[in-house]
Amino acid sequence: MREKTKEELLLKINAQKMLIDELLAEKEAEVKLDYPWKGNLGHWYWNIQTNDVVFNPLKVEAIGYSIDELPEKIPYDFFTNKLHPEDYESVMENMRRHLEGLTPVYEVEYRIKAKDGSWKWYYDRGKVTKRAKDGAPLFAAGIVFDVSKQKSKVENLEDLTSSLIELVDKDELTEIRNRRAVIRELKTHMIDSAVKGKKLAVSMVDIDDFKQLNDTKGHVFGDYVLKEIAKTLERKLDKKGIVGRYGGEEFLILLPDTTKEAAEQHLNDCRMAIETNEFLKLESLTISGGFTLYDQGDHEDVLKEADKNLYKAKASGKNRIIG
Ligand code: GH3
Ligand code: MG
Ligand code: MG
Repeated sequence: MREKTKEELLLKINAQKMLIDELLAEKEAEVKLDYPWKGNLGHWYWNIQTNDVVFNPLKVEAIGYSIDELPEKIPYDFFTNKLHPEDYESVMENMRRHLEGLTPVYEVEYRIKAKDGSWKWYYDRGKVTKRAKDGAPLFAAGIVFDVSKQKSKVENLEDLTSSLIELVDKDELTEIRNRRAVIRELKTHMIDSAVKGKKLAVSMVDIDDFKQLNDTKGHVFGDYVLKEIAKTLERKLDKKGIVGRYGGEEFLILLPDTTKEAAEQHLNDCRMAIETNEFLKLESLTISGGFTLYDQGDHEDVLKEADKNLYKAKASGKNRIIG
């Protein structure tokens, strides 16, 4: 065999170097890929037969224990005893189902009590890695993350969302449902009444001669009256009905599961509570209302019907309910 020239040797060394570089790059990528899966509290390994659990000390340190103060062999129930009572059953059920082979992975989120009594959120994911021939689980492994920070961010967002929803649905002046919210209720109750075969009364109520009251007593006082009327209607309807400010000095009232007579009686009770207006003792403060029992058509048809009757109530002298 011919001896290699210096150039040929250099070429070969270079090729080897490239291969090594390539392998190193691959290894680095592997480490990087592996890293996010390590979890911030690390892995756990559970020998199901001996019930030995081996885990990263971070898992107990995160809930305030130092590894030195704990017995060498930490029993399985060291963790399960610290689960939040509301999460306990779902964690156990999830593990049971996985051990039985009903789910491909064990995956849960739970609250765990720290030494100082506070709660941490853990996200735990694992699987049986070895089973006996008959399918009995022998060994399981997994990773656990402390997701408390993420959870509190989500909780804050949920709080923010529910206060925004409340804001979106609330009439700014009277603080009862606004038009959007009460129309949504109307649509829902229309479906409900059709499904259950129960009568739904829909009523449009309007303050009588409110313009005059504004003109004589001022807009600020008018606002106050509107607020008091909204409060009175809500109080009078209690749990039996729903009220929202439809616009201006008009209110939409829904009375689910009712009859024509009961609805008329209920609306008259509201009317009289305002007529006697204990909150203001005004000489004449009255409302008129028109109502209809929902039978068919869409919500606009129903509103038109109620409005027609309101017009009749106004035309026939006000301070009355017509259905
Ligand atoms: P009717 O008995 O026929 O209903 O007469 P009315 O004067 O109540 O009706 P009209 O439609 O002529 O006037 C409604 C008045 O309601 C005019 C408007 O200034 C007043 N109004 C509507 N929204 C508000 C509000 O938010 N605050 C106050 N203070 N007044 C309002
Ligand atoms: Mg009016
Ligand atoms: Mg009006």
